[in-house]
Amino acid sequence: MSERPTPPDAARNLVMVVFDSLRYDSYLAAGATRAATLGPVERRWSYASWTAPSHYNLLMGLLPHSSPPHVYASEYYKGDFVRYTERLGVADIEFKRLLPSMYLPIYLRDTLGYTTHALVSMPVLNRHTPVNVGFDTYELMPRHNDMAAMLDQMRFDGTRPSFHLLNVGETHYPYALADEDPADWPHISGVHGIFKHLDEENIGGRLVSDPVDFFDDERLQMLRARQVRAAQHVDGLLEKLFDLVPSGTWVIVTSDHGELFGEDGYFGHGPILHEKVFEVPFAEGLVR
Ligand SMILES: [Zn+2]
Repeated sequence: MSERPTPPDAARNLVMVVFDSLRYDSYLAAGATRAATLGPVERRWSYASWTAPSHYNLLMGLLPHSSPPHVYASEYYKGDFVRYTERLGVADIEFKRLLPSMYLPIYLRDTLGYTTHALVSMPVLNRHTPVNVGFDTYELMPRHNDMAAMLDQMRFDGTRPSFHLLNVGETHYPYALADEDPADWPHISGVHGIFKHLDEENIGGRLVSDPVDFFDDERLQMLRARQVRAAQHVDGLLEKLFDLVPSGTWVIVTSDHGELFGEDGYFGHGPILHEKVFEVPFAEGLVR
């Protein structure tokens, strides 16, 4: 810590909240309003269809994109990185300042003097994975669906700005709230025991292996309703987050990818090429 640079004056805390698997229209259907207090809730597009590559991308600093036509990718990236000048309250941030690591936690910690923390829900993001680089603390939560427990663990050091990544799991299958008895979770043939079987997540987050059993429309609608309910719940916890963070903290609320609920014969995410698996909500702004 002694060799860490002195942070620029007025550098802001940054919190990135990733509601895992939350589709943009599920967030809208939830009537969720808290993210909108940061700024407009936009429909954006994830760069990847499942958790691990998507988080790598987010941690490169590239947030879900708006897919603008007639724009070169390099111009878009440039514009996205310049936004960090406002997000961090640090002058003249641009892409080349993130070189050579091109990784936000390393840049924030080693160049700007931030403390860096990750609280994650998904086993594919556990601390032994290459995603965990540049973090002072990095924890896979004991339960995959407990954002409130993450909020309890967040600490803000008055002497340095901080970066927090929160990978929130309530919105991921089985869309269960922390106080829901696992016996009441929906069980689909082939999905049972997913959290005991990391390998099943590793192959891409495609959670269902039995096509006979799961393409049941009623069941898919029930699952979608559960994701909407989970979105309502975690949206409520955003209010708690906004109360908790120091004034002047920049908060980003988004998702790592969407989810399919039977559209065109798909369920889940991962090895799926479909608009809905890339469709995510995005909002950001200053907590005053
Ligand atoms: Zn995910």
